[in-house]
Amino acid sequence: MSDTASQSPMSVPPAAHTPGAGPGPRPGRGAPTAAELDAADVLAGLRDAFVLDDTVYLDGNSLGALPAAVPGRLAEIVRREWGELRIRSWTESGWWTAPERVGDRIAPLIGAAPGQVVVGDSTSVNVFKALVGAIRLAGPDRDEVLVDADTFPTDGYLAESAARMTGRTLRPVPAAELARAAGPRTAAVLANHVDYRSGELHDLPGITEAVHGAGALAVWDLCHSAGALPVGLDEHGVDFAVGCTYKYLNGGPGAPAFLYIRAEHQAGFDSPLPGWNSHAEPFRMTGRYTPVEGVRRGRVGTPDILSLLALEAALDVWEGVDPVVLRAKSLALTDFFLDRVAAHVPAGLVECLTPAEHARRGSQIALRCSGAAAVMAELIARGVVGDFREPDVLRFGFTPLYTSFADVERAALELGRVLAGRVDGR
Ligand SMILES: *Cc1c(COP(=O)(O)O)cnc(C)c1O
Repeated sequence: MSDTASQSPMSVPPAAHTPGAGPGPRPGRGAPTAAELDAADVLAGLRDAFVLDDTVYLDGNSLGALPAAVPGRLAEIVRREWGELRIRSWTESGWWTAPERVGDRIAPLIGAAPGQVVVGDSTSVNVFKALVGAIRLAGPDRDEVLVDADTFPTDGYLAESAARMTGRTLRPVPAAELARAAGPRTAAVLANHVDYRSGELHDLPGITEAVHGAGALAVWDLCHSAGALPVGLDEHGVDFAVGCTYKYLNGGPGAPAFLYIRAEHQAGFDSPLPGWNSHAEPFRMTGRYTPVEGVRRGRVGTPDILSLLALEAALDVWEGVDPVVLRAKSLALTDFFLDRVAAHVPAGLVECLTPAEHARRGSQIALRCSGAAAVMAELIARGVVGDFREPDVLRFGFTPLYTSFADVERAALELGRVLAGRVDGR
């Protein structure tokens, strides 16, 4: 579970040798320019729905930009719902039902029918609920839990605790081997849909099918896929899923996370955190816990209403966005970035950790280079914001809703200048 680049299973050639496959731009004469790609971009108009400036913002995979409608909506909620209606807002302003209502707004973005997504708590807390819930559903005869060996640290820590608490053994397995590793002893498998460091997209349909073939349950962390690419939870039979809303869903810092509980598992879901909000009759305040039917069973205590309603307002930007179009733009952006890095960065200075194949790529590009921390600091000083991950990885996230091809061109150009040490007065 260490956060080192050498643990990444990825070993692909440098970007200079990985011209984009598929519908993206191709290098050489006649390749479309950034201006041409922006002119043809059907999502380009959505950029105006966000508060942005001249900065090239490629960190939406850590903290999404602010949707322009949110500040006004939030001010109104504070003034009217909290300030004037006060306690009445739990019913009259729909505060009590907001976790399920906002969940149903996220559901189509992750391929879920209504009534299976609830919003609240952090992703970390929801990983715990989902994984323990899955282990309990699998029954007492299955004594091991598998986790994606390169998982985001919090998932790994929680999986270890969940396994220890439930008397199971945790076995970290590289994501590419999870399908083969699941067997008759496996209770549940926790995996990341997109690797947060390398940007590799894992085979959710294939792994889920293999996990089910072994009689186990699949729990997916969608932090780096929700809002970036189609997920298809219902279609692929996923049992449980969790994800952040402050990354590609632009819900704001610390916005509450989502938890997907497949409809068929809701009646059997035995939450390890059975708070009063998931009680069948929460306002009877009885001493005996009786879980409610439905996805509300995933709730714990009083929701973080202001963050939840800021998220609800932020989700308006998704109205009418086709996930297929979103994915096409995401791939076109990352293809274009790889192409422009090959054009602007002297050969051999960066190595791309993100798979070249579209089927294995999320919506970010991870480049390994020496002195990566200083390189990113210099890029940020030049108005190109990505981030750095230990020990030597530059991450660039491409949010299809507001990233332009001109942004991508400038990012690659500045990266080339920084790496070549060609400070030309800009
Ligand atoms: C961002 C991220 C998290 C964050 O969890 P929090 O509880 O919101 O801090 C968890 N898992 C993955 C895979 C992430 O990328």
